[in-house]
Amino acid sequence: MSKMAADHNAINLSQGFPNFDIDQGLIELVANYMKKGYNQYAPMQGLPVLRQNISRKIKSLYDKDIDPDSEITISDGATEALFSTISAIIEKDDEVIVFEPAYDSYVPAITLNGGIPVYVSLKVPDFSIDWDEVKAKISDKTKLIIINTPNNPTGAILSKEDMQILSDIVDGTDILIISDEVYEHIVFDGYKHESILKYDTLKERGVAIFSFGKTFHATGWKMGYSVAPDWLTAEIRKVHQYVTFSVNTPVQWAIADYLEDATHYLGLGPFYQKKRDLFLKLTNDSRLDPIVSRGTYFQLFSYKGISLEADMEIAERITKDYGVASIPISVFYHNRTDHKYLRFCFAKKDETLERAADILCRI
Ligand code: PMP
Ligand code: GLN
Repeated sequence: MSKMAADHNAINLSQGFPNFDIDQGLIELVANYMKKGYNQYAPMQGLPVLRQNISRKIKSLYDKDIDPDSEITISDGATEALFSTISAIIEKDDEVIVFEPAYDSYVPAITLNGGIPVYVSLKVPDFSIDWDEVKAKISDKTKLIIINTPNNPTGAILSKEDMQILSDIVDGTDILIISDEVYEHIVFDGYKHESILKYDTLKERGVAIFSFGKTFHATGWKMGYSVAPDWLTAEIRKVHQYVTFSVNTPVQWAIADYLEDATHYLGLGPFYQKKRDLFLKLTNDSRLDPIVSRGTYFQLFSYKGISLEADMEIAERITKDYGVASIPISVFYHNRTDHKYLRFCFAKKDETLERAADILCRI
């Protein structure tokens, strides 16, 4: 969709990335570390100072002690952490519970490792989890459950109750959890992010995955990390070592410094809530009907008020004929389910959102 947007000179609200500048202070930190000669390989598991600062951040946010040496691994974005973790855990014919719509990198990583995705659809229209269906789909082959909160593409979040039910389901089993929490700081309306790290049963058997790309508006830097118990971290690192070995040294030094000031990430929720509210207000007179996002920088709209055509068709039509690109949510389902929703990314300058909304109100 980004290519289609470029080809047709459309406003690109499809792929998730900000179109505004990142903090110049962070850029200067990276540039200074480069100038000072920090340009060679970092340690395989990531710079110690960065892992220590991440551990401190987790303590302050989720009140848990995480050992920076044995429980945190810096990765090439969340994507590599997801891939290395799935590769470490999944063997042939292992089953993995995947909620749909699902972020696009989970299933290829599962199938490449010989695993079998077992799909559970989130309930429309609030995209909550039907835990009875999860229980019914668990078998003696279930090795892993992948959750994602706040959720891309739906903007739904998991509650404390969800986490407690999940804890009860996996307690006493060998089932592991991957919790994709790349949008941990982008939560709205007074809701709190529920990390698996807060829940002992989940933390003991879980891998929480994060991304500095989302948190510092720098998706192109591809910098993330996983947090997992030592025995699981050891397995993840066996894969990480040979997928990439280590990741960008000067950026790791810079982020280690930058993390020392919590205001660099605590303001992210209010920052994006303002953008969500602006976008919702500006599209209020359109024929698009929102499912108000509670987190992430994505907003889903039902387009049933405009037409009943397939989402791929309308996404293409709105891009080419009107000039606003979005993502049809059927691409996040293995069977291209016929839902009538489009995902719009609001991590954009206000003026971009204004121009896009102006067009959307005329469809
Ligand atoms: N998980 C989700 C839910 C995402 O939206 C993204 C962003 N593309 C990723 C993982 C990957 O993050 P990164 O860009 O750090 O690899
Ligand atoms: N997470 C972003 C999205 O969902 C982009 C990542 C990608 O394009 N692979 O749009």
